[in-house]
Amino acid sequence: MTLEVPPASSPAVHNVMRANKSTDTKPELIVRRFLRNSGFPGYRLHWRIDGEDGRYICRPDIAFPGRKLAIFVHGCFWHRCPTCNLSLPKSNTDYWSQKFRKNVERDKRKEEALLEFGWSVYTIWECEIEAGASGLLRILTI
Ligand SMILES: [Zn+2]
Repeated sequence: MTLEVPPASSPAVHNVMRANKSTDTKPELIVRRFLRNSGFPGYRLHWRIDGEDGRYICRPDIAFPGRKLAIFVHGCFWHRCPTCNLSLPKSNTDYWSQKFRKNVERDKRKEEALLEFGWSVYTIWECEIEAGASGLLRILTI
């Protein structure tokens, strides 16, 4: 059996493919890069968190399980950022308003369940990514 030499472009292609996956949204990548560059590479992606009763709570975008710190990187449109307060799509408004309401409720439910289970929750909004990241750094350096 011979080993094929990987083409030179493969790491770059790999990165592009990763960037295209829906879970690797751009703001999330920025935060992850920031954490690595700041000397906090020990995060987990989509780490499964279960409650004491063994019931599934959620998989935060980024987590530091040792610190019980869950980090969510929210896109302003899908998670209905209170600062941006983006308007609803013009067509199928009922559908969208219901969908967004469910997203917001789900976020709130997750956060409450995590807090109850002794986790800290830190949310970074897409529009405030720099402020969010530096706030996160303050928490991590405590
Ligand atoms: Zn926003």
